[in-house]
Amino acid sequence: MLGTFAVGKTSLVRRFVKGIFSDKYLTTMGAKVDKKSLAIDDVRMDLLVWDLNGEDRFQSLSMEYVRGSAGYFLVVDQTRPATLEAAHALRQKVEQTVGPLPFILIVNKIDLPGHWDRRQEDLDALRASGWICVETSAKTGTGVDEAFIALARRLVE
Ligand code: GDP
Ligand code: MG
Repeated sequence: MLGTFAVGKTSLVRRFVKGIFSDKYLTTMGAKVDKKSLAIDDVRMDLLVWDLNGEDRFQSLSMEYVRGSAGYFLVVDQTRPATLEAAHALRQKVEQTVGPLPFILIVNKIDLPGHWDRRQEDLDALRASGWICVETSAKTGTGVDEAFIALARRLVE
């Protein structure tokens, strides 16, 4: 899970793995790993999901985890445009550090009314360039399974 602070990385993992949501904001210390099994076209997979600390000053540490991963999520918060810029910077860092890896863009907090200007245009342009973008709410659960399945699919392609 890559993305700047408070975009919902920890909440998305909790929703996906445990099916729960909490409004409490807990800064994740270091890294936490959760496992979830799923099946893609009869292929059983165990996903090990690494929830990393989103603090920017620890991003260099995150890259050490990225080095060992099969793919990643870029998570943004639809109410904060700066989180998309942060995601672009993170993706560049991943590509510089480990080269291209499968990833999915998660646009989270779609249950909230506000979103950045031209969000739809931005997503259309990213999709046109080949990105898979999934809109989610960790709060209501919308799109969360779809996002994880989309990455799992890319991993078995
Ligand atoms: P992280 O820093 O990226 O791990 O973000 P968290 O998962 O800790 O979430 C940060 C804050 O956003 C918390 O207060 C969450 O309850 C809230 N949050 C996360 N996902 C959603 C969502 O989909 N909708 C809403 N309304 N709040 C969310
Ligand atoms: Mg967290």
